[in-house]
Amino acid sequence: MTQDSTAPSPLRWIDFHCHLDLYPNHVALIGDCDRLGIATLTVTTTPKAWPRNRELASRSKHVRVALGLHPQLVGERAGEIREFEQYLPASRYVGEVGLDAGPQYYGSFNKQKDVFRRVLELCGSQGGKILTVHSVRAVGHVLDMVEAHLPPDRGRIVLHWFTGTRAQAARAVKLGCYFSINGRMLEKPAHRALVKEFPLERLLTETDGPFVKVGVRSIVPSDVRDTVANLALVRELPGEEMARTLIGNLRELLS
Ligand code: MN
Repeated sequence: MTQDSTAPSPLRWIDFHCHLDLYPNHVALIGDCDRLGIATLTVTTTPKAWPRNRELASRSKHVRVALGLHPQLVGERAGEIREFEQYLPASRYVGEVGLDAGPQYYGSFNKQKDVFRRVLELCGSQGGKILTVHSVRAVGHVLDMVEAHLPPDRGRIVLHWFTGTRAQAARAVKLGCYFSINGRMLEKPAHRALVKEFPLERLLTETDGPFVKVGVRSIVPSDVRDTVANLALVRELPGEEMARTLIGNLRELLS
């Protein structure tokens, strides 16, 4: 292979929520993100996974690693907030964090709220963090907690796979939140209508791989191209303009 074929590309696409460490070919996918110019935020589900993820992405141009404690794991792993606290000063990106009030996880909901409150407070006191936030059946609670514990000038929130109501979306916009859109969110007409109303300047894209499938295989960051194309259709914009807008949004978020 020549050097040129492996040289990192300029930024073209964004996958702002993906679990690269849950794929068997983690390292190869980091290489793909660089080769194809995909700005990828790889999230972790437990703080214990963060150091190794960071090491693997340390030479990557386009992959960044987020420090997380997934709400679905808080039931058994709430104590890992100690490791979260230990690593947080070294991590600009935080996720996956948030709340899940689905039937399977409702038993830990109070614990989840304690952990998420602590995450928001720590982020607020350190400042400058960007959080990718899970809010399944709990959008109202997530927004209440963001409003109470993370002032907009102390951190930025990206709502990952938002499935709330139109009123909740409006409230999230007022709180300064971004929305990372995945392919699944564009499948149902009601969701497409909602995404059509989000402010254009608050949109990003994501895959949430490997939890989303494309046919029988797991989605990968390069599949985000299809999401951008579908999002362009929903927003009635040319595909190239949609892609440029998303890159501008990411730059604004990081500024
Ligand atoms: Mn996820």
